[in-house]
Amino acid sequence: MESSCSSSVGRSIGVLWKTVSEDCNLACDYCYFSTCGGKPGKTIRKIDPTLLEKFIQEYMALSNGVASFAWQGGEPLLAGLDFFKEVIALQAKYAPPNTIISNSLQTNGTLIHERWAEFFKKYNFLIGVSLDGPQEIHDQRRLDSRGNGSFDKVMNGISHLRRHQVDFNILTVIHKGNVGKSRELFRFYQQENFGFVQFIPCMEFHSKHIEQVGVYEITPDEYADFLCSAFDCWYNNGTPIISERFFDNMLSVYVHRESEMCTHRRTCSQTLVLEQNGDAFPCDFYIHPDWNLGNVGVDPLTDILSHPLHNDFIQLKPRLPERCKTCPWLDLCYGGCPRSRKWNDSMQESEPDYFCYSYRQVYAYAHERMKALEERVRNNFFQQGVNLYYNGKNPGRNDACACGSGLKYKHCCIDLN
Ligand code: SF4
Ligand code: SF4
Repeated sequence: MESSCSSSVGRSIGVLWKTVSEDCNLACDYCYFSTCGGKPGKTIRKIDPTLLEKFIQEYMALSNGVASFAWQGGEPLLAGLDFFKEVIALQAKYAPPNTIISNSLQTNGTLIHERWAEFFKKYNFLIGVSLDGPQEIHDQRRLDSRGNGSFDKVMNGISHLRRHQVDFNILTVIHKGNVGKSRELFRFYQQENFGFVQFIPCMEFHSKHIEQVGVYEITPDEYADFLCSAFDCWYNNGTPIISERFFDNMLSVYVHRESEMCTHRRTCSQTLVLEQNGDAFPCDFYIHPDWNLGNVGVDPLTDILSHPLHNDFIQLKPRLPERCKTCPWLDLCYGGCPRSRKWNDSMQESEPDYFCYSYRQVYAYAHERMKALEERVRNNFFQQGVNLYYNGKNPGRNDACACGSGLKYKHCCIDLN
């Protein structure tokens, strides 16, 4: 769901907007954000039209060819189809010629009907649907205001997406109810023919209290066991068929690319996170007055993007604990997420990520099999590149490697030949 564009202050910035504040039609028992208990009321707190237009106009002016929006909630579909039609109209109105515009949206899936699906297809939205597994797992925690499970409604929403061939992926929160059930999850994904999934460990409600380290429902031990057994399923005897974001990203690093997950990149992503009222923050996990960069309805976007706090935020992740600096898995992990590291008062030093143990376990567990996949994938990329760019011959030692890693051949796939 991350997205990016360039700004006049020389950085790559994507936008994630909390479309309806915390309004939601579900009352999932682990939700750390919504407090309306699945009863959002008649007046949905949508983004104000003037605010929307001011922001899109300024953002597009800085976009430099790429503009990316991620819409989240609460439940963003509560904003209504007309709201998103207005978004599309404003994007088209203010985008400089040849701008690539992308929209992604994270939804609980229960409100998707035919016209939503038509709209998503027409404007090429990428949809993330929250689904915690098969019905008996999903319905334990993802409930409506009357305590009824939401599984059937989610699957109905997905059927509309399928009918209209909308691109979608499945986001599964890993909590006490499914952390021991990776096999059931993968069996379900396969049965349902879900090609793209991702896991997120369940945060507990008070984890939004920035003065405390992020608190998770599952222990590092539980998550380690989950990841290792999920890896077996994903690996599928050497022929992965379901794309899972964590493992796909691991494989990317093995084949000399960077992870696209902010948690496992060298630096945090530069996504601007906006509250429905326009308050701006550097990350979804840092929505707190101490990290407020301004308000996009009031302040010029250039001021918000060059706010010193943005820079302070970006400095956090590379300030690694000693254990990370000497960790054999540093290239895969990059110290995890700063929000899951316990910091001292001056924010100069931290303990390792809460899930450090889980990461170390799965990296060691998967290593040999990742190496085997690496060789195959690099070979494929290399042969394709040789045919496409080098007339079927190997590149020179100092040429760009044909596998597309961006490295010189002598530092990359020369060992394969
Ligand atoms: S703080 Fe964590 S979630 Fe936020 S950008 Fe950094 S790594 Fe990602
Ligand atoms: S696995 Fe642990 S020690 Fe290694 S880089 Fe990640 S958080 Fe740091």
